[in-house]
Amino acid sequence: MSLLPVEDALERLLTLAEQAPIRELQVLPLAAADGRVLATELVAGLDLPPWPNSAMDGYALCLSDYSGEALPVSQRIFAGHAPQALQPGSCARIFTGAPLPPGADTVEMQENCEVLADGRVRFLEPLRAGQNVRAQGQETRRGELVLNAGTRLGPVELGLAASLGCAQLPVRRKPRVAVLSTGDELLEPGLPLGPGQIYNSNRRVLCTWLQRLGCEVVDAGIMPDDLEQTRLALGALDEVDLILSTGGVSVGEADFLGQVLREEGDLALWKLAIKPGKPLTCGHYRGVPVLGLPGNPASTLVTFGLLARPYLLRRLGVAEVEPLAFTLPAGFTWDKPGSRREYLRARVEHGRAVLYTNQSSGVLRSVAWADGLVEVMEGSTYGEGDALRFIPLSELLG
Ligand code: AMP
Ligand code: MG
Repeated sequence: MSLLPVEDALERLLTLAEQAPIRELQVLPLAAADGRVLATELVAGLDLPPWPNSAMDGYALCLSDYSGEALPVSQRIFAGHAPQALQPGSCARIFTGAPLPPGADTVEMQENCEVLADGRVRFLEPLRAGQNVRAQGQETRRGELVLNAGTRLGPVELGLAASLGCAQLPVRRKPRVAVLSTGDELLEPGLPLGPGQIYNSNRRVLCTWLQRLGCEVVDAGIMPDDLEQTRLALGALDEVDLILSTGGVSVGEADFLGQVLREEGDLALWKLAIKPGKPLTCGHYRGVPVLGLPGNPASTLVTFGLLARPYLLRRLGVAEVEPLAFTLPAGFTWDKPGSRREYLRARVEHGRAVLYTNQSSGVLRSVAWADGLVEVMEGSTYGEGDALRFIPLSELLG
């Protein structure tokens, strides 16, 4: 059976996401809106800056009336204070961010001014009309679209909303995502390891990551490899928007999750042309979308980052769901062309992508070491210096 290319899998998932949008909205104060998705457009309700103001500490004058003579200082204008109209034949002492007095059109910085013994100010350099003045509306005009609906809100977007005087914003409600870790071998940290056991790392990775993505996590713990327990675990979930499981999808394993989905919903088993990764379950349980990611920690991470993350963001109406990537020269050679696209854990050293020594899909440490993933295309080989796509982890993890 031919493998499903990564971009086809992503396209299918995004189509599914668009069929199950999370539309309900909440209005939140800015302080509570970090990481959330803006539900409506943000339109400027005022000009920014709201009035012309000085970009410098200096002196404001009316250049069209200026004869070249030293000017007396008729007022001092601090930021936050309302100016008087500029008296003809004078200048105003002005500070950064203070409103320009009506009648003034130009500011000279204090370093280019000489204050004479009689208090008048001489301008030492040639002046240009409008210099050092921040015009009203130069950043934004009232009525302008500032942020699109579907924008993810972070410090900058929230600051922008604050600069426009918005105290609160409408955001999409958080998706509720159930995280299930399958595997009889799994144990939570804090307990002593028994024979054949390993600690559950995927749960921590996914729960933390989902929270960063603005999701409400329903931590459904460990699901043993057992049909009845799988039925019980899924049946106990209520009101979730997505069930995200890890493990139990490798070839050769008893397919408990798949069986329950077949009984109570539907499923497709995808074989992806991705490494680490490959098997992915995509289906529904009692109408709730289910994504089953491979259990090896690096596989979980890559498939979540490249497929499940964009899927979830698209359900929230985010347009730009794919990570920003850039091209880097390879700092390694790759002479074994593969049938799957490989996402190798890499670091940037001297402007080149270098690889972690152990690229096994079970090695989470490779990701902790890495700055990002380099994409090795199907059927391709690479020499030192060949261009590769590099996806910074920082683009995926938030
Ligand atoms: P599976 O997809 O269930 O066959 O798991 C593949 C590999 O990933 C096995 O070595 C599992 O022990 C390991 N694995 C599965 N789930 C987890 C998990 N939650 N944390 C750490 N390792 C896991
Ligand atoms: Mg397993």
